[in-house]
Amino acid sequence: MRAVRFHEHGGPEVLRCEEAPDPELEPGEVLVRVRACALNHLDLWERRGLPRVTIPMPHISGGDVAGEVVAADAPNVTIGRRVMLQPGMSCGRCEACLSGRDNECRAYEVLGYLNHPGGYAEYVKVPVQNLVPIPDAIDFVHAAAFPLTFLTAWHMLITRAGLKRGDDVLVLAAGSGVGQAAIQIARLVGARVFATAGSDAKLERARSLGAHDVINHHTQDIAAEIRRRTNHRGVDVVIEHVGEATWAKSVRSLARGGRLVTCGATTGPAGALDLQALFAKQLTIHGSYMGTKGELMHAVRFFFAGQLQPVVDRTFPLAQAALAQRRLEESEQFGKIVLEV
Ligand SMILES: [Zn+2]
Repeated sequence: MRAVRFHEHGGPEVLRCEEAPDPELEPGEVLVRVRACALNHLDLWERRGLPRVTIPMPHISGGDVAGEVVAADAPNVTIGRRVMLQPGMSCGRCEACLSGRDNECRAYEVLGYLNHPGGYAEYVKVPVQNLVPIPDAIDFVHAAAFPLTFLTAWHMLITRAGLKRGDDVLVLAAGSGVGQAAIQIARLVGARVFATAGSDAKLERARSLGAHDVINHHTQDIAAEIRRRTNHRGVDVVIEHVGEATWAKSVRSLARGGRLVTCGATTGPAGALDLQALFAKQLTIHGSYMGTKGELMHAVRFFFAGQLQPVVDRTFPLAQAALAQRRLEESEQFGKIVLEV
């Protein structure tokens, strides 16, 4: 099959479009003809190389996939069925998995990250329980743009932060995959949404997605603006994934009893915390990683009903994966960048 792989860590230039062996099915697995695969920051991290993480080489990235089932070594699978894929893999038999918290499984892995070759290819294989059938009205590009970021944002807002109608939420980096998903989910719940972005054009997009109020994080102080616009109260929930560059401002933006949820550290992993503020303001800090299979099944109902809609920035053919990654790396995008295969 044709695939985009890297044989060594480095910049986008290490990505090679080349012939690779077809995946071989094991019992319980299905083979999917990939039609679209969305990019995530994880793709960039694994290409550059991470401390203490060994990425098997040559490597095929890509955790957000939509396509058609072409073969199955499992019962009750319809060949030709249009599907999107659950990006999370877990053992399926530990206490966490059997309690419906499969993203806490010790064997938890993301498709395309370590030992499961991903969707930058014509074919990908996954366990049968990772299939999510999609209706005919949903195209492959939007289907691929949905799973990872909406699952992540859903788990952060609904499960971790316990977002309620009437809460004030601050969503950082509205143009990111998690940002555009979080704005929509927070609107769906009935929260008031503040969003940040780095350009006026992106702030306008954030408004059109449903943000009530927007802050330019390059020219304005996020915490000061939040204080001013909430009558000095702060927000109930902060959706953080930027890391070092924004962490202190995110904490300062919280109201008493506020919850900060973080799922990433794009600008670096260091973050200080004022312990006096933590206890005196009764703050809660939640770490969040992906989400459960059940949560994705729940969230897709709103996608299929037209109440959540992943924003597609633009598409690239598979062979131009390096160009696509460069666009993500330079934060030029608003929404998801998708490879068409
Ligand atoms: Zn498990």
